[in-house]
Amino acid sequence: SDHDINYPVCPARMDWTGLYGNYANGRKVEFVDVGCGYGGLLISLSPLYPESLMLGMEIRMKVSDFVIDKIAALRRHSKENDKVDYFNVACLRSNAMKFLPNYFEKHQLSKMFFLFPDPHFKNRKHKWRIITPALLAEYAYCLRPGGLVYTITDVEDLHDWMVLHLNEHPLFERLTDEEEKNDKILPYVVNRFVLDCSTEEGQKAAREGRNKYPAIFRRLPDPDP
Ligand code: SAM
Repeated sequence: SDHDINYPVCPARMDWTGLYGNYANGRKVEFVDVGCGYGGLLISLSPLYPESLMLGMEIRMKVSDFVIDKIAALRRHSKENDKVDYFNVACLRSNAMKFLPNYFEKHQLSKMFFLFPDPHFKNRKHKWRIITPALLAEYAYCLRPGGLVYTITDVEDLHDWMVLHLNEHPLFERLTDEEEKNDKILPYVVNRFVLDCSTEEGQKAAREGRNKYPAIFRRLPDPDP
């Protein structure tokens, strides 16, 4: 349940220094991992894009608390070694399906990740899927033209569903095979190069021999009015 989630009335009212300290000054969140689970993806990307603020959104409090503690420990360790690593990554307990436009302005984000979202197979639950035509309009609003959506799942039916709806949406197009092959982030999405990754869905799927179905979509420019 999410009735106890605090969220800003609009993006301008969000105090990001609570999550990133002074590192938030002059910067805006650019990468969002929706339903980030144990946070492995953003933690592995953090040192690669030190100038980009990254946010994991996770609805389960126990899980978000775990990620918040993990990031605090990584920051402490880096500070002790005179570094400023991991100050660009943070986790927030929130319902990403409800509150995204409360946190992000139009065209603010450059990357959104949907990694192993819960599938909700049954037809009557379709509206709870994290990729729906209505939610895609919100994602397109928050993403800048040229921004990318990454999806991956081990459920083929869900992959087909996500590809279908993203392809059908006028503001998204799938990258070509060549472009997906050359994407620098996709290997992290598929393999999660983190030390403690036993809790990561991608690693579990690999251990259990399940297939993984990744895809990347580009946010197209807004059509002329
Ligand atoms: N993305 C992670 C990974 O690949 O390891 C976690 C995958 S897990 C199967 C799906 C996660 O999405 C769960 O941790 C769940 O709590 C979270 N989640 C589901 N709906 C959400 C929502 N509306 N807002 C934020 N998180 C959500």
